[in-house]
Amino acid sequence: MQTHLADFIRDTPRGREAEAILRNCVHCGFCNATCPTYQLLGDELDGPRGRIYLMKQMLEGQPVTRVTRDHLDRCLSCRNCETTCPSGVQYGRLIDIGREVVERLSPRPLGERLLRRGLRRTLASPTLFGTLLKLGRGVRWALPAALREHLPPLSKGGGGGFAPVRARGSRGEIPPAPRWERGE
Ligand code: SF4
Ligand code: SF4
Repeated sequence: MQTHLADFIRDTPRGREAEAILRNCVHCGFCNATCPTYQLLGDELDGPRGRIYLMKQMLEGQPVTRVTRDHLDRCLSCRNCETTCPSGVQYGRLIDIGREVVERLSPRPLGERLLRRGLRRTLASPTLFGTLLKLGRGVRWALPAALREHLPPLSKGGGGGFAPVRARGSRGEIPPAPRWERGE
């Protein structure tokens, strides 16, 4: 694929790396077959080929909007697409670069930035997450229904942490998920 990167990134290490990756892509679309978000959403821009195109446009200096950011946000970084790429495109590295650049060119509103920072800290800390979970259970009655139904109940035995992994039945079958897991 031909590329003409914009001045802001062309002569930087990340720019050179991104350009080399972009040039390997022949736009065949084989990668879409193994992309979970493309399979689920059926939108070209929610698959690897479409995201590569969006990142190319962004790195070439075309306008970046919230729409670009949303499509990149939906990527799971699972790199499943790399397994079916005949050209060996390092998509995982490209999306890392693309995410850094999109944050700079299309900054999120303050509230969203704070929420994301809080989520990152909370999910990375079992202690903090466990404490918030206990607090949430204590005020379960006051929570909105949409939030309440995603709050796991206390595990048997009263442990304050997560419900234990469900054991298989005597024949090796996995019992059905509890209602709160099914969102009923
Ligand atoms: S399979 Fe590889 S070469 Fe083909 S579109 Fe996807 S990333 Fe590009
Ligand atoms: S990393 Fe995963 S979710 Fe993202 S484009 Fe590749 S296959 Fe799809």
